[in-house]
Amino acid sequence: MTYSDLYVKERTRSEITDIALAVRDIFGFGNQCCPDILTAIENVLPRYLPQFALIPVKDGSIGEGKIAEAIFNPHSIRIENSGYRGLSNGEPSPRSDLGHELGHIFLHYDGKKSLPKYRSVRNVVFVKIQSMSGENQADIFDLNFLVPQHVVCEFDNPVDIAEWCKVPLEMAQEAFRLYGLNSRRKIHPTLQDIIDQIKND
Ligand SMILES: [Zn+2]
Repeated sequence: MTYSDLYVKERTRSEITDIALAVRDIFGFGNQCCPDILTAIENVLPRYLPQFALIPVKDGSIGEGKIAEAIFNPHSIRIENSGYRGLSNGEPSPRSDLGHELGHIFLHYDGKKSLPKYRSVRNVVFVKIQSMSGENQADIFDLNFLVPQHVVCEFDNPVDIAEWCKVPLEMAQEAFRLYGLNSRRKIHPTLQDIIDQIKND
């Protein structure tokens, strides 16, 4: 994405998670560890967004060290040829990059519309304090799209998550921290409350 993070709509982590899971649903991923995201994006997504296309482009044409980018009106994703090949081979990094760009498509679909309005505010430092940037939002979508709670909750280490779900280790570690079988995870406050009440009875 190239437009500024200042213009994205504020969303909570749980809203973003719900949207990512809903996209998994329309793709029919269920509880698959390593769904075929390339086929889903090329063949299933256009049933819902007829103008959508995954557009392979020459290596190096996207820049900024990125291999894919979301574009709008029509909403599509450009992907460099090597990234496209990587996806076909189930390589973790392009899978994660594509999931991130898909997040921009679904979370920031109207981003460009709001841009001119804000741009017209001249000579004013227009800073909207946000708890989460657009890039963070797309990353949260990506994680919950590729390694959601219901998929990773049975894993007891991040290395297995990375291997089975074909995602970068860093993403697997984050998913494990959030959703894995991890003894360091805090007990849910509601359950703690119930336990405390039972004990005090
Ligand atoms: Zn991005």
